[in-house]
Amino acid sequence: MRHKTRTIYVGVLPIGGEHPISVQSMCNTDTRDVKKTLEQIRQLEAAGCDLVRVAVPDKQAVQALKQIVQYSKTPIIADIHFDHKLAVLSLEAGAACVRINPGNIRGRERFREVVLCAKDMKRAVRIGVNSGSLEQDLQDRFGLSTTSIVTSAKRAMEVPEKEGFTNFKVSLKSSNVPLTVQAYLEFARDTDVPLHVGITEAGSEYAGSIRSAVGIGSLLLSGIGDTIRVSLTAEPVREAAAAWEILSAAGVRRRGVEIISCPTCARTEVDLISIAAQVENECKKIESSKLSKITVAVMGCAVNGPGEARTADFGIACGKKCGLIFSHGEIIKKVDEKILVRELMKTIRESIDV
Ligand code: SF4
Repeated sequence: MRHKTRTIYVGVLPIGGEHPISVQSMCNTDTRDVKKTLEQIRQLEAAGCDLVRVAVPDKQAVQALKQIVQYSKTPIIADIHFDHKLAVLSLEAGAACVRINPGNIRGRERFREVVLCAKDMKRAVRIGVNSGSLEQDLQDRFGLSTTSIVTSAKRAMEVPEKEGFTNFKVSLKSSNVPLTVQAYLEFARDTDVPLHVGITEAGSEYAGSIRSAVGIGSLLLSGIGDTIRVSLTAEPVREAAAAWEILSAAGVRRRGVEIISCPTCARTEVDLISIAAQVENECKKIESSKLSKITVAVMGCAVNGPGEARTADFGIACGKKCGLIFSHGEIIKKVDEKILVRELMKTIRESIDV
């Protein structure tokens, strides 16, 4: 069951409550380059991002932000680290939300200023705790631990709560997966604040996706998480793709087709690895809304193949240099390996009318 959180709004996007768990990523372009940043935001929108974050390191970036928010369909979150004045300027420039790291903003009064501005302008704030930049006193007292991460978040929360401002969410990230998961579980125990979930600095696309899947996935399965980001040392669109795979695997939100394929073995008598990759690529070419909730099975032989292919919406179960094509539980034809992908995609396209 999903952990109960209150609903907040980042621009027009509701986060928390019963609302869909949103996907976000962060641009790696220079924010001051409006054209390139908008181009990347559009790529992220197409990849399924509901929210996009951009770093705002100086006043020039604030100027660029004014134009970026104007042309972006997706709500924009400004990422601020040390200078609270940039957070205020970013809100004034039109950012839907500012991300503040309590370990870096240095002082409650400065944070209060940001909160009052967000409250006045009806914007959102993310309190983004990062285990790599915890306040010194917490590090001295508790070291790098769940207690220091959770205390940092709870202490920061006192500022908006004292001002009667509730349109904020919290993240408690670390690159250490068990520590992150523990921190979220502990924090969620006695609060209804919406949670942005992720594993920070998770690594390269391969390793980072696995670490994020373990961390974010286990939290989602515990009902925790209202918005997620997969942090990868890779192009941001890859983060969106990984985030959607995690949401889909956790059974909480689907976008596009779900492909079930077998790992291949000595019984495989076709080039199934290539066939599965081609099917995946071809499905990506179809508008995701047409394919949402559709499963396609790509199976190597008669052992488990027909069973999986029959259960999926569409499927292929291969034999010696050939394969059976299934549609909604029925075998519709047997074709040669060379035309298997083409015929399967033709069947899918005809069935969903694209
Ligand atoms: S479905 Fe068949 S080919 Fe694929 S792994 Fe299982 S037994 Fe092997």
